[in-house]
Amino acid sequence: MGSDRSGMAEEQAPRQKSVRVWTAIDPEDLKQHTLYVDDLYGFCSNCRQMNLNYTKDRSCPGCGTTFKYLATKLKAPGDVGKILARLKKESLTLKLIDRDDLEKASAQDQLNKLFG
Ligand SMILES: [Zn+2]
Repeated sequence: MGSDRSGMAEEQAPRQKSVRVWTAIDPEDLKQHTLYVDDLYGFCSNCRQMNLNYTKDRSCPGCGTTFKYLATKLKAPGDVGKILARLKKESLTLKLIDRDDLEKASAQDQLNKLFG
């Protein structure tokens, strides 16, 4: 807005907080359309293609799947907030999910297969 805020571009608006939202998702959908990231770079859940950039790679150059979800192990509200701010800035519609939640859900799936 006129003044030079370029250094602040990735900062979250101070009043915004990061919260986790529960949602029901088809596990097959997750398996095929998730980009796993630790920072800006990650890998494709479908074919394990590495070094994908979630702000640039909207689909996987390896297998062509489109990404709907971004899974991260980051927990610190500041780290998560940065990802959310970046998604917003780039107008990306990726849903940010917790990787531990994802792993728990697929472990549950395996158990159900064994005992179901
Ligand atoms: Zn892929």
